[in-house]
Amino acid sequence: MAWREETGRQVNRIGRWYGVKNKKWKIAGILLGCLLLIIAVILGSIKLYRVKKARESGILLAFDDYNPENWSRYFDFFEQQGVSVTFFVSLEAPTDFCFEAMERGHDIGFHTVSHKNVLELSEEEVQQQVIDPIERFRQSGIELSSFAYPYGGHNDATDEKLLAYYKVIRGAYFYEVHSKADLRKGYVDAFPIDNHYLADDDEFRKQIDAILKELSENVGAVSCLYTHSIGGEEWGITEEHLQYLIERAKELGLQFYTFRELQEE
Ligand SMILES: [Zn+2]
Repeated sequence: MAWREETGRQVNRIGRWYGVKNKKWKIAGILLGCLLLIIAVILGSIKLYRVKKARESGILLAFDDYNPENWSRYFDFFEQQGVSVTFFVSLEAPTDFCFEAMERGHDIGFHTVSHKNVLELSEEEVQQQVIDPIERFRQSGIELSSFAYPYGGHNDATDEKLLAYYKVIRGAYFYEVHSKADLRKGYVDAFPIDNHYLADDDEFRKQIDAILKELSENVGAVSCLYTHSIGGEEWGITEEHLQYLIERAKELGLQFYTFRELQEE
């Protein structure tokens, strides 16, 4: 009897012990399940986000030459609008403007030291105007990865030569829809939106509407639009036109990309 009671107590004790242990395992199992579910949801969201990002179309807005006073006056405006742009500068070496532009989320591309048509340069001049500055900028902490041809002057030979030094080289005068992959390596076209070409408000809106509509109807499509300054100058875009471009692009769900951003995608 005593033995049985003793054994019974022991069985009870073991049963209780197992019971508790089972409950612990159950809780651990539920927690593990939840954790795996959370990880799966996070991974799924990241994938969906990436797919969505890759499918988004947009504009590469660029400003050429070198107008630092004018450009930096619009840093706050661009920030308020959530728009990042690429400044293709014609400079000997980086300036304070370049560093500030980078800090504010914009990109610095290159445009020869003194705005030369690359087709008219000797080998030595190409070295001085296009290639040597890369190292000077690099030593100051700016990696030049995009280049815009002044006057759009280029041919297959210059493209091949420059692509050994720059990831992306950009032309002028032509509107073209590119896939984002083209922005990782290669030549892309660019369309001028200066007052010189599009002074008339109706004509500007018509052109911009057509471009933005085409971009919005394509998956992962991008196009470069370029100008030189903001205002009423011949080689610039008026504030009203810039505002119109940004608002219409946002309405159509288009993004504003820098050249660097797409090289890294
Ligand atoms: Zn230029």
